[in-house]
Amino acid sequence: MTPVSLDQPWGRGFNVEHTHAFARDSELPTRSFLPRGLGRSYGDVCVNDSGVLLHNFRRDRLLDFDEVHGVLRCESGASIADIAAVMVRKGWFPAVVPGTRFVTVGGAIANDIHGKNHHVCGTFSRSVLSMLLRRSDQDVQIVESNHPLEDVTVAGLGLSGVIDEAMLQLDCIPGPGIKQDTVLFGGNGSIDGYLSLDASSQAWPYTVGWIDTLDRGLRGVFFRGEHCDGPDDWLTPNAAKLAMPVDAPQWVLGRWSAKAFNELYYRAQGLKSATRETIPLWQFFFPLDAVTAWNRAYGKRGFVQYQFVVPRAAAREVVPKILAHLRESNVASYLAVIKSFGEHLSRGLLSFPMPGVTVALDVPAPNEKDRRALDRADAMVADAGGRVYPAKDARMSAVMFKRFYPQWERVEAMRDPMISSSFWRRVTRSS
Ligand SMILES: Cc1cc2nc3c(=O)[nH]c(=O)nc-3n(C[C@H](O)[C@H](O)[C@H](O)COP(=O)(O)OP(=O)(O)OC[C@H]3O[C@@H](n4cnc5c(N)ncnc54)[C@H](O)[C@@H]3O)c2cc1C
Repeated sequence: MTPVSLDQPWGRGFNVEHTHAFARDSELPTRSFLPRGLGRSYGDVCVNDSGVLLHNFRRDRLLDFDEVHGVLRCESGASIADIAAVMVRKGWFPAVVPGTRFVTVGGAIANDIHGKNHHVCGTFSRSVLSMLLRRSDQDVQIVESNHPLEDVTVAGLGLSGVIDEAMLQLDCIPGPGIKQDTVLFGGNGSIDGYLSLDASSQAWPYTVGWIDTLDRGLRGVFFRGEHCDGPDDWLTPNAAKLAMPVDAPQWVLGRWSAKAFNELYYRAQGLKSATRETIPLWQFFFPLDAVTAWNRAYGKRGFVQYQFVVPRAAAREVVPKILAHLRESNVASYLAVIKSFGEHLSRGLLSFPMPGVTVALDVPAPNEKDRRALDRADAMVADAGGRVYPAKDARMSAVMFKRFYPQWERVEAMRDPMISSSFWRRVTRSS
């Protein structure tokens, strides 16, 4: 174990103290610990203040691959980047990927991540055929469909044990390209433009929108894509050419700079409105990976990402209300993402997606007033029957968490007694 050091999650904003251990052999730490992947969760689900972090990212071997059926067995520290680097050449791709390729398989399962194809295939866990789970109080177990630890390991926030290995079903792809359509929408204060584009694009495997939450009209840009072939030099990603060398100064990060940024972004997309182009899949799925340490762009005080989902029947009315509330409360937000989730339900009790509409927005260095505005937004989400995403959170109250995830007590009952996280202690404390 290493000496105690100061750490920050991806969204920065607060410091925690950790001792670090590295998962290499079968021994688990003997004091309170938390498994950790690549730390790409924005808030405190991936930190364990004053405890041990058990780093898993070095356990990254791809162990076995069935080339006929596309079934991969790998160690859980293997990342989407590791898998895609090998598999795209062979004509296979992970069934679900998030907005960065630097997440591990263990982290993808523990947050049950979703991608731009949720409407077609649900969350990451639907591609997980089985897992090897190590706990401090039981023998190593093979967890597959209907195992008693399945619904608390999928989306289990790392609390049910250390996922050592996973067997994944990959998707067959024609090559390293994506055929992408870009269409502008909105402008009348509703999300009708987005919803109608989304409804008419259900046959596309990947759909997502960007929405300008600072614009009263709620203008946006809709992207839809499908896999296609491409030149050989697209088989691997380009190395990141840009890096944030220092923290951005705080004065850069306000409502006016967000407004200016959004205006520029919208105009840039407008220039190519309703265009079709073929781009490397890396650029379509992982645009932010082109800038190393982009989280420094939000300055030393960091940022929170606020991601909520509301059920389909309520979305048309409630999403604009929540966005208007945040805008009127002067909560600045740069790029916000809007996406419709499909009908596939996850096996995980704490899985975030539900059939409905989700919006994710970055809030730079939230102050007390911003936090109160977000608390109010939480209540609006809860009243509509929706929830907020733990993987992105560092602030929701225990009361709200328990409303969003009423089955949390079963996860607590099945938790490995040696595992805990700052998030779990915060949201399960009695209020
Ligand atoms: C730019 C960016 C874009 C993103 N886009 C999306 C998106 O589109 N969709 C989405 O759903 N998420 C998205 N995310 C969030 C990200 O996908 C998740 O937070 C993911 O879980 C991070 O994986 P990680 O390996 O970094 O895990 P960490 O953040 O290190 O850990 C996440 C959780 O997994 C647990 N864990 C990690 N390894 C293991 C293991 N071996 N066994 C048991 N538990 C383990 C940890 O305890 C923790 O609770 C994005 C994040 C970033 C930075």
